[in-house]
Amino acid sequence: MLRSNPFYRARLHGVRGWDDFERLPFTTKSELVADQMAHPPFGSNLTHPLESYVRLHQTSGSSGGQPLHWLDTAESWDWWRRIWADHVYRAAGVGAADRIFLAFSFGPFIGFWSAFGGAERLGAMVIAGGAMSSEQRVRTITELGATVLLCTPTYALRLAETAAELGGDLGSSALRITINAGEPGASIPGTRAAIETALRAECFDHTGMTELGPTGFSCGARDGVHLVESEFVFEVLDGELVATNLGRWGSPLIRYRTGDRAELSREPCSCGSPFAKLVGGIRGRVDDMFTVRGINLYPSQVEDIVRRHPEVVEYVIEHRRSRQMDEVTLVLECSDGATPAEQLARELRIALGVRVDCRQVPAGTLPRSELKAKRLVRVD
Ligand SMILES: [Zn+2]
Repeated sequence: MLRSNPFYRARLHGVRGWDDFERLPFTTKSELVADQMAHPPFGSNLTHPLESYVRLHQTSGSSGGQPLHWLDTAESWDWWRRIWADHVYRAAGVGAADRIFLAFSFGPFIGFWSAFGGAERLGAMVIAGGAMSSEQRVRTITELGATVLLCTPTYALRLAETAAELGGDLGSSALRITINAGEPGASIPGTRAAIETALRAECFDHTGMTELGPTGFSCGARDGVHLVESEFVFEVLDGELVATNLGRWGSPLIRYRTGDRAELSREPCSCGSPFAKLVGGIRGRVDDMFTVRGINLYPSQVEDIVRRHPEVVEYVIEHRRSRQMDEVTLVLECSDGATPAEQLARELRIALGVRVDCRQVPAGTLPRSELKAKRLVRVD
């Protein structure tokens, strides 16, 4: 089938069957970007003529690169929707009687478009929350009796904060489940607890990538993310998740290096799922590691401590190299009157074994995002 795909035709030359799989070359993001620059605007990873494609999405380019354009045929898009309905929603206990609110802009970023399609397939009521302020979203969730909220973990906390500012409480709304994606937060215990406390809802994680598809979901055990092994081949190589999708023939990816840091477990899960699990979900990006006095750290370790303090409404980790010494400052924005900086510095020193300076800034200083929050800032 891939003989008609210019990107993969040469790469798959001489491959006869599954026995050759582990000899196949990896595919990297930079190769995809280079291919799209050489063959604008869609690149050459196209199995069918252009008229077969019905959807265009693009990546946010948040990792500093050129945004990728990604096309889906009707068949490929149905594959996305089916995985949402049969795996992601099912594992979270979402069904046809639910009202699903999607706090998402519905622009070209793939985000929750597939979740929208999957919810229709499930027979649930879908409520598009695009082009709304946070206040409008809070009111809509409450008035329409939404039972399921889909957004990033950061934005779930922001909606709770907004409800409090309005003198209300999303915890007393009909919300019973959140499915959070875009950041690893829903698998970070501190963040998950913060969301569950603020919204009085059960919080589930979902992982996926624009160019790859919906790769994973958390189940009732919620101690990690099951990988959808019926629709992908997954490998973890040197701590990095590598994936091959099996149902997106229009623009497939073979042995794609996701750049996500992961640890795989094949221990049986209490939910009965036969799928392997990423312990603790995606732990962050492979290139997000920073070193302080010889100790390797990832932003998720800091997040786990910070989110135990609901008075912290936003934060970034500033990483600075000065005179060959690495210094890390946690910059905090807090709700009225709270001054947790000293206490947090103490907790971080105990948990991580390094000194992290904490500095508080006035409310509204730090950037906010509805998509992926950029929390690690490198300062030269
Ligand atoms: Zn499970």
